[in-house]
Amino acid sequence: MATERASASLHHLHRLMCEVNADHDPESVLRLVADGVVDGVGFGVAAISYLRPDRMLEVVAVSGSSQASDQLLGRRRPLAELDEEFAVAETWGTLRFVAAEAASLPATGWVPEVDPLDGPDAWQPEDLLFAPLCASTGELLGVLSVDLPEDGRRPGRDQRELLEMYAVQAGIALDNARKHRQLEEQVRLADGVRSVHHAATSLLELGHVIDTCLAPIVAGLRCDAAWLRVFEGQGELPGRGRGAIHPPERTLVPPDRILAMAWRVALACWQAQSVGILAPDALPPEALSAEEVAEVLRFIARAGSNYVAVVPVGAGSDCLGYMVLSRRLEDGPWTDLEEAAGLEIGRDLGRAVLHARLFEREQRLVAELGELDAYKSELLATVSHELKNPLSAVLGYVELLEDDSAPGQAHEYRAIRRNVGRMTRLVDDLLLLSRLANPAQPVRGEPVDLGGIVRVVVDDMSVQASQRQIDLHLAPVPATICVDGEASDLERAVVNLLSNAVKYSPPGSRVHVTVRSDGATGLVEVRDQGLGISVADQAELFGEFFRSADPLARAEPGTGLGLSIVKRIAERHRGRVDVASELGRGSTFTLALPLTTQSC
Ligand code: ADP
Repeated sequence: MATERASASLHHLHRLMCEVNADHDPESVLRLVADGVVDGVGFGVAAISYLRPDRMLEVVAVSGSSQASDQLLGRRRPLAELDEEFAVAETWGTLRFVAAEAASLPATGWVPEVDPLDGPDAWQPEDLLFAPLCASTGELLGVLSVDLPEDGRRPGRDQRELLEMYAVQAGIALDNARKHRQLEEQVRLADGVRSVHHAATSLLELGHVIDTCLAPIVAGLRCDAAWLRVFEGQGELPGRGRGAIHPPERTLVPPDRILAMAWRVALACWQAQSVGILAPDALPPEALSAEEVAEVLRFIARAGSNYVAVVPVGAGSDCLGYMVLSRRLEDGPWTDLEEAAGLEIGRDLGRAVLHARLFEREQRLVAELGELDAYKSELLATVSHELKNPLSAVLGYVELLEDDSAPGQAHEYRAIRRNVGRMTRLVDDLLLLSRLANPAQPVRGEPVDLGGIVRVVVDDMSVQASQRQIDLHLAPVPATICVDGEASDLERAVVNLLSNAVKYSPPGSRVHVTVRSDGATGLVEVRDQGLGISVADQAELFGEFFRSADPLARAEPGTGLGLSIVKRIAERHRGRVDVASELGRGSTFTLALPLTTQSC
């Protein structure tokens, strides 16, 4: 009988070792251990408990009596209770035996209803026999407890050794399961950190970053809730700044007193690059007293949470905010890996806060510049408008006076008229520029024949060109090159380019005008053999009031607004104007406008 039992036991143990090494699901291995202890070692009941992160032992496998299984499976008790039992236990190798008569605590588990045998080695219903289940490092991972030895006697050496062998295998299975969980945890945390990093680096608006990050933080760091608060400027009050809570239905909003505590912890933690843990059994973080920790824990207990982690959010030497994460007892305290992942997330969020601040400052600046630009345009329009009427009056009176003037004064009157004419042109240009810059006056588009416009302008300009002995030449114009826009503005753009070409060219030179299309764009090219423009001047050419420093160019009358008007017109028509020029050899200006599919 004994040899039969021994061979069954060895067979069982062999199977168990194969299963453990094959890295099977730990729960099925633990069940196999419990079955082996019952069938192979000879106990009526075997129960295995696993030590949870919250230091509770939870029964996860029971074999033998179904009554015991019903009563024990899933049962939890604090590790401290086991420690008390171990304190009075006899040490049997790695086993611990608590004789009924030595037990310090009343029996809380399952007590079999059997009559003990006679004799000093008889097993008593309240006897306890445990095999601690340890990792290879000696760390306690769980415990195997047995009851109801088949022979009714406290186990002898052989039975104990066999039991120890099963305990070793169960320890290995629990250790494997733990490593597996750690690996899973690493993957989960890496995923969480990655998604927060992605949101923090790709989103510019801070509110957006906060909204996007909180859910992955709660999932990744296994919290039941997270409060995030970041400050918009330096030295803000703890309750201010921008914050959010996840899950959003969490209505328990921390009062300012608790926020101030979190802020204190965050500041100290950012300095130390650590996470502040507030837990009933942990030392309080340096920045808080034990009473303050108790106050915070009482507060979060109202929502059913038991642990708090304060994760600082910062960049460089500045702490810019914090995350307060809460967790329930059953999820255990945060692991080192989770704390490291939390810190990483805090750094990412810190960078995001800095980016967002820069972005918001930039947005504000753009808005301010926009306002300034609108103000400038309005001022220009008003002043130009106000100048126009008096100028017309001056011109009218000059003409009247001129009629009655003495013959020697004709020269002075001509000078007055010339200058009034220049001022009128300047005012007209300014009025046009402010209309072109006014977003309330968009292009009233209609199909326009670009070739037709150029033909008219060349015609009109030919007298002026021949007066200056310039050969103005228009290359044959293709049938219709249709663009969408305002004919009068497009005509004005071509006039400005052509009059410049004539104005800045010496007598005897040629101005060549071409109109063509390159499939999607209509192009007007004005090429002259004139003064040319230096590379430095080309960079500023299209700015308002720009006039070249070249004395030959300055000798010609001008306002410095002609090309800026061309540029505005081109851009309003979704086109562009470009220049290619060489000082002393001539310039080519090209106006490019998108073709329309409609016919003109
Ligand atoms: P304006 O001709 O009234 O001075 P524009 O804005 O039309 O103003 O031109 C700005 C400056 O660009 C001119 O003052 C001139 O120096 C230079 N420029 C423009 N077109 C030409 C050209 N075809 N050849 C040489 N210089 C030119």
